[in-house]
Amino acid sequence: MSLFSAVELAPRDPILGLNEQFAADTNPNKVNLGVGVYFDEAGKLPLLQCVQAAEKTLMGTPTPRGYLPIDGIAAYDAGVKNLVFGADSEVLKAGRVATVQALGGTGALKIGADFLKQLNPAAKVLISDPSWENHRALFTKAGFEVDTYAYYDAAKRGVNFDGMLASLNAAAAGTIVVLHACCHNPTGYDLTPEQWEQVIAVVKAKNLTAFLDMAYQGFAQGLAQDGAVVGKFVAAGLNILVSTSFSKSFSLYGERVGALSVVCTDKDEAARVLSQIKITIRTNYSNPPIHGGAVVAAVLGDATLRAQWEQELAGMRDRIKAMRQQLVAGLKAAGVQQDMSFITTQVGMFSYSGLSKDQMVRLRNEFGVYGTDTGRMCVAALNEKNIGYVCASIAKVL
Ligand code: PMP
Repeated sequence: MSLFSAVELAPRDPILGLNEQFAADTNPNKVNLGVGVYFDEAGKLPLLQCVQAAEKTLMGTPTPRGYLPIDGIAAYDAGVKNLVFGADSEVLKAGRVATVQALGGTGALKIGADFLKQLNPAAKVLISDPSWENHRALFTKAGFEVDTYAYYDAAKRGVNFDGMLASLNAAAAGTIVVLHACCHNPTGYDLTPEQWEQVIAVVKAKNLTAFLDMAYQGFAQGLAQDGAVVGKFVAAGLNILVSTSFSKSFSLYGERVGALSVVCTDKDEAARVLSQIKITIRTNYSNPPIHGGAVVAAVLGDATLRAQWEQELAGMRDRIKAMRQQLVAGLKAAGVQQDMSFITTQVGMFSYSGLSKDQMVRLRNEFGVYGTDTGRMCVAALNEKNIGYVCASIAKVL
């Protein structure tokens, strides 16, 4: 009898499980629209030019690999702050923001969750219905009771905004509300600027804690436009948490580059918050790795590389938008009667297609087109070569 003999086999991660099934599929036309990863026109994972240039420079002056400070590379944290809050923002000038390098967006969420649990152990966490599934798992593992706020309206093909406001209005003071800053995963439906203002008013009136998850900054409209939502919360005088991920925007998935920022009331409070977050990091993994952070810091800190990054990011954003349009047109051409134009009103990497679980299973089994059972498809994995086949396949199951 071993200590582990009663350990049960955990269910497979649904999305990674799809990947395994996809890899084993012998259909020559198979298309993987399951994972949230951007592929270029050739169906390849891009290695951005700005990243290659930064790496070349870094390699030109090889440096020893000592431990980083607990909160990461100072220039990286500064770069993140400027990107998320705007270089000229009052909160940065006042030293009110505590930012730490984190292991991707997931790592940022986890550090934030652990920190909040310490501050307010009885608080409940609300995530959108539906949300990125790891939100629930991660906040539950951090010890919170996790519930949902209304978000998606299947009949309307959009946001159930009245329902969302009602959920938030009914939340107890101190409730932590996880909000997708842009490019809502999985639905692709974002709030309008006016709706954000209303959410902010409720967060303020009900004394809720907003945790903005920004995993796709730059994929909806642009870096500044997508980041504007953070500015709205700050302008309302709210003390918020923001998790940043560069996995998608720098195509640096495996380097685990992200950050957690906490907006505090003043400089002194920010210093105290930072000191506590550093303990959370220290007792989890001590300090972050160097490479990804060094690359991103080099790009954010150099005007030429930064401009190159913005251009490459715009290229990804525009290609996704073009794929959305071609998907709508292609479905129509393939004989789909219903109006699918809602796909172009969605933003970011995903489309909630409205297809049922049965239809998604048929797509997978009969056509080798892989999306999740919820009907979510990664539009960023479509290209000129596979889109015709995907449209024809969807038309057959609709
Ligand atoms: N939040 C959301 C909404 C996401 O979609 C993702 C990644 N799929 C993350 C956080 C995590 O990002 P990372 O891969 O950088 O950990």
